[in-house]
Amino acid sequence: MPRLALQIRAQLENVTDLRPADDNYTIMAKLKCTSCQEEHAKLVGFSKDDEVEMSKGRSTSNLVMHCQSLTHTPLPLSGMKQFCKKEISAKFEEPTAKAPLWRPYAPSAGATFETIAIVEARGLDFLSIDFSGTWKCRSTESDTKFDDVEFEEGEWTDYDEKGGVSVSIMEIESQWVRA
Ligand SMILES: [Zn+2]
Repeated sequence: MPRLALQIRAQLENVTDLRPADDNYTIMAKLKCTSCQEEHAKLVGFSKDDEVEMSKGRSTSNLVMHCQSLTHTPLPLSGMKQFCKKEISAKFEEPTAKAPLWRPYAPSAGATFETIAIVEARGLDFLSIDFSGTWKCRSTESDTKFDDVEFEEGEWTDYDEKGGVSVSIMEIESQWVRA
């Protein structure tokens, strides 16, 4: 099964170790079916604690759906998308001591893309994620922790009282690559 790595990139000012605040964070992602190549307009959400049964066999995944339009907006006939209805699924890779479920984003030099999670995907490619929900990070100038980081248009700013420095996360972006 293809393994897809969720990578993020951001400009970190005086903070590091950025990751979702909770292991059960819901990824809201855009996806494309690898059978019919259709991109799904609606974001789909899944988390480690979601257990959805697959139609065949007894296994479960964190996300199971059929490739079909989730919107009810009537489309002009010429623009009608041909969703293939195949079952597609995704599952977080089992974490190990060396590779935890969520790996803190702590780039050593500048804003580079780093992997923060690995998902096994069947029949789909993820394209991006929506930076919704709560994230956390810590100051590099003191022992201050920021446990309720929420992004507004890809940005977050605060002040580290102990360290006496402003802190921010700017231009946050995501990409998915084959792991
Ligand atoms: Zn499809």
